[in-house]
Amino acid sequence: VKKIAVLTSGGDSQGMNAALRAVVRSGLYYGLEVYGIQRGYQGLLENDITQMDLRSVGDIIQRGGTILRSARCEEFKTPEGQQKGADILNQHGIDGLVVIGGDGSYHGANKLSKLGIKTMGLPGTIDNDISFTDYTIGFDTAVSVVVDAVNKLRDTMSSHARSSVVEVMGRHCGDIALHAGLASGAETILVPEVEYNLDEVAARLRENFAKGKRHSIIIVAEGVGRGEDIVCDLKECHASIDARVTVLGHIQRGGAPTPFDRNLASRLGDFAVRSLINGESDKGCGIIKGELVLTDIDKVVNTKKEFDRDLYDLALRLSQ
Ligand code: ADP
Repeated sequence: VKKIAVLTSGGDSQGMNAALRAVVRSGLYYGLEVYGIQRGYQGLLENDITQMDLRSVGDIIQRGGTILRSARCEEFKTPEGQQKGADILNQHGIDGLVVIGGDGSYHGANKLSKLGIKTMGLPGTIDNDISFTDYTIGFDTAVSVVVDAVNKLRDTMSSHARSSVVEVMGRHCGDIALHAGLASGAETILVPEVEYNLDEVAARLRENFAKGKRHSIIIVAEGVGRGEDIVCDLKECHASIDARVTVLGHIQRGGAPTPFDRNLASRLGDFAVRSLINGESDKGCGIIKGELVLTDIDKVVNTKKEFDRDLYDLALRLSQ
């Protein structure tokens, strides 16, 4: 490859900018021309493409969001849209593309690779739901946002001997709930990967108070349902329980990326560029057990990430 482009697509995450910076700087270091595409596949179809230089990605490693902005694009899901995208890239002489996004975005990259563009996918999502990597870019920051919020909730909940139900993001994946739950000492963690029983949750809450705990934290992954519904159900069957809900929402997607996310993004961005130079295409770039790993995109789309049941059991053992 001689000319590569980079875009951010789907839901944004902290660390996308750090990944973008790594792709641009690495590409230039290896003598490539690098182009930035605004607003994901939407911007590609509108030919919103500009050449990037070293300074275009200055002062962004510490910023959340994405300077290229992100979008969802229905037209690109059609074969005509995909062909149009490939034609536009060809007109610019761009033969490699790095897509920073989630599962949906890799589908698009996969289609482009079949039309002759070399593509690499980088895991840019807070959800940690990508099977080709142990950690996605943004996950660590999102977990730290949740832990910070739970610390604050603990202060006020213990003053009133209340339980706190905290609804967190993650779509169908319980990893944010699990990791934030373990790190914040939550008594109960509800995730879509593990079935739960409300009577057991209530019994545990009562036990906790009987043991002398002054508050209880229940983390609910959005894939399980709404935190508000859990509170209503608890109140209905167990009137003595005083629980309040907090929905953290999009603040989990904002803020400065943690050093972990910046370093992950930097390593993966550089890896994507080197992989393109080595002639690889249609791959997801991830880190598994500390090693940089390429995985065929065909193998990753629709593959569910394995849930760490041991970590889940540990969190429950430690929060007795
Ligand atoms: P994420 O990448 O975070 O999973 P989406 O699922 O919304 O987010 O996907 C982002 C974009 O990727 C979509 O708006 C669309 O342009 C493109 N995309 C998603 N699925 C496909 C598909 N099956 N074929 C082609 N492009 C797709």
